[in-house]
Amino acid sequence: MSAALARLPAVHALVRDPRLADTPHAVAVEAARAVVAEARASLLAGGELPGDLVGVVVARVAELRRRRLRGVINATGVVLHTNLGRAPFAPEVVDAVVDVARGYANVELELGDGQRGGRLRGVAEPLCALTGAEDAIAVNNGAAAVLLVLTALAHGRGVVVSRGELVEIGGSFRVPDVISAGGACLVEVGTTNRTRATDFEAAVDEDTALLLRVHPSNFRQVGFTERPDRAELVALAQRTGRPLVEDLGSGLLGAAPVPGMGLEDEAADAAIRAGVDLVVFSGDKLLGGPQAGLIVGRRDLVRRCRKHPMYRALRLDKLGLVALEATLRMYREGRADAVPTRAMLGREPDRLRREAERIARAVPGARVRPALSVSGGGALPGQGLATQVVEVPVSAAEDLARRLRLGEPAVVVRVARGALVIDPRTLLDGQHEPLISALTRVLADSGSRR
Ligand SMILES: *Cc1c(COP(=O)(O)O)cnc(C)c1O
Repeated sequence: MSAALARLPAVHALVRDPRLADTPHAVAVEAARAVVAEARASLLAGGELPGDLVGVVVARVAELRRRRLRGVINATGVVLHTNLGRAPFAPEVVDAVVDVARGYANVELELGDGQRGGRLRGVAEPLCALTGAEDAIAVNNGAAAVLLVLTALAHGRGVVVSRGELVEIGGSFRVPDVISAGGACLVEVGTTNRTRATDFEAAVDEDTALLLRVHPSNFRQVGFTERPDRAELVALAQRTGRPLVEDLGSGLLGAAPVPGMGLEDEAADAAIRAGVDLVVFSGDKLLGGPQAGLIVGRRDLVRRCRKHPMYRALRLDKLGLVALEATLRMYREGRADAVPTRAMLGREPDRLRREAERIARAVPGARVRPALSVSGGGALPGQGLATQVVEVPVSAAEDLARRLRLGEPAVVVRVARGALVIDPRTLLDGQHEPLISALTRVLADSGSRR
């Protein structure tokens, strides 16, 4: 044992190996230290020293040098997958981000007169034009937008909400908690399944700061239910002089990507038209832009949000700003159908079947079957979009899925009933061939090891 331990090379000796000549010294040392420590532990436990210790270090270096956050192929069919970064950008949005990331940008400089300019000018104008709102701001994400609105408009006062809308969105965003984090007082009205505008009316008193309507994003109530009508809440807000704020969650600009998708309730422009005073929604859900939280509506209320000290803590950086401006431009110019998430949601069944068949032909044992894709991002809870998936029955599906995730490129698939399931809906241009190669490689690999 001690003889074996004595044969364990020193870290400084290992890193001098020619195979590590091109590796940054700090990385080589980190990898060598880890490998030597593991080898020592293994020897002490009665194991053997690996024959090619430098080879192990080289492999560890490759692992250490891979970026942790990197692009993946999303073959799950979940269009707005929060764990996969939600919305992919259109090429023109990517170009805009690169332009601004590479160097300096006029984030707060008016190029005309060389004076200081507002950082939101590129997004406020299109947001107003697209929604009909008087004013608009954007912050870090939807949760931040809700928090800012509650803090700026309702701190120390009451916020009236339906018990049926005290929802949890996930990632610890719970409506009652956000209201208390904003320093406001939750006034819950109605019942879990049925709430009426008259319940709101009975709760309004001199302490009431605002009425809040929340989109029940990720679940659906069926049966004996009633949600207060938006128009009735607008009328109540006007009668009582309390603003009506609506957290739309996903939020849509204009028409749904798929006709009849049942998203009428999520259109920000429709909410403004209906008379909602302030509408809050995400930039990277159905809008298909970068992570952002958008606040649009009455000028005086938006201004109070922008002037609140918390705005500064939640503001967008130049990358988010430029991606949002470039995405909104696509809507402004009537090219919203080219926004990738909208295109994916609207993808025709024929095209999906052709893509699935093309993949299935190239992958041994694969077959095509009809299925449902989900939109994700809290839109369309309980609803699916008809698709065609490639199903590959295998003996160790979870293990193969893991190896696909760890591959280069990383591929994320679904596993169902012992099969790998690939939904072409979320594949971008140019990803089909790399996906097929990854699949055939992993399948051949597992076949040869069996
Ligand atoms: C998603 C969602 C949020 C949070 O938005 P993020 O952009 O994820 O921070 C808030 N409210 C509702 C109703 C949502 O669906």
